[in-house]
Amino acid sequence: MRKLATIRRIDEVLPIEGADAIVIVKIDGWQCVALKEEFEPGDLCVYFEIDSFIPIMPQVEHLRARAFKRMGDKEGIRIKTIKLRGQLSQGLALPATKFVDMFIDSDEDEGQELCEFFFVGHDVSEWLGVEKFESPIPTQLSGQVKGNFPNFIPKTEQERCQNIVRSIFEENKDTAYEVTMKLDGTSFTAYRNNDSAGVCGRNWDLDLEDWNAGNSLVRMYIDSGLQSALHDFGRNIALQGELMGPGIQKNREGLASNELFVFDIYDIDAAQYVPAMERYEIMQELYARGLNRVMVGQVPVLAKKYSTLAELGITNISELLAYADGKSIAHSIREGVVFKSFDGKFSFKVISNKFLLKEED
Ligand code: AMP
Ligand code: MN
Repeated sequence: MRKLATIRRIDEVLPIEGADAIVIVKIDGWQCVALKEEFEPGDLCVYFEIDSFIPIMPQVEHLRARAFKRMGDKEGIRIKTIKLRGQLSQGLALPATKFVDMFIDSDEDEGQELCEFFFVGHDVSEWLGVEKFESPIPTQLSGQVKGNFPNFIPKTEQERCQNIVRSIFEENKDTAYEVTMKLDGTSFTAYRNNDSAGVCGRNWDLDLEDWNAGNSLVRMYIDSGLQSALHDFGRNIALQGELMGPGIQKNREGLASNELFVFDIYDIDAAQYVPAMERYEIMQELYARGLNRVMVGQVPVLAKKYSTLAELGITNISELLAYADGKSIAHSIREGVVFKSFDGKFSFKVISNKFLLKEED
């Protein structure tokens, strides 16, 4: 279980240019925007991670205007990644002192010493009633989806290189990458996890029973033999790729029928993406169990070997962006490229500016 709300210490307080009332605070690996008057380095805070759904209480009342959400019959504040004054803000930090009265008033904890409660690392999610935010199923999708995207699999998002320049060129300057073509179709995830199995789009776990027979993700999952191959293989994994074909986006590759281009395999038990080599091995295992090689293949790989950026002749962000320009499978302008570290732990996307200028609506 994720600790959504914990007691933590403010590591750093940094000014934001042009802003008087707000500052950036750094807490472990996170940064969020907070009120200047509230924090000094070293202060204890209650830190709510992104995806927190906080019940309405006086301490979060000021966020109602921008972050009020309902979840079922509950009302609360949803914390997500935002930008304030151009600064990335992830999570919410509030002074621990704001919760002391609440602690003293709560009968349940009577007699417990304050310092036994307000210590760094203490998970206060349950005490505060904080839950993970799950978006409701839109009414037009009811009967078509089984539920939210499974919480044991990461969604297929990729960070844009422009947002993590330092990380790419400093922390990861020795990282070796697999470079794959970014395809412009629709996100597809199929999984098998002990007794559960299914197929998902970008945000939803789809209903296999009730969906009209036309759904292309469900059709691919069943018709390609993926459902049964994953079942026979028996490992707890999720296979992720881009579904491409007529009627999906603009079918820029001009495919005559739907094809799935696999770009990742996630090991659910180990909670990490498998290294690229293991992905190839698992694909062979699935083909051996009846997966259709014509309908399901691998995403095109651009750089033949695992290369560092330097080995690809890329030393800065503009060279990285230039590298993204080029052909796709059948089109003269591709959407871009995705860099994935060899061990599967770090990845980002580079969208071609040529694509953005000429091809985007
Ligand atoms: P975006 O399409 O800008 O939202 O970027 C993230 C999406 O790119 C993912 O959700 C995938 O569906 C898709 N994608 C296409 N090609 C790749 C690839 N080679 N590696 C990873 N993701 C990809
Ligand atoms: Mn896309």
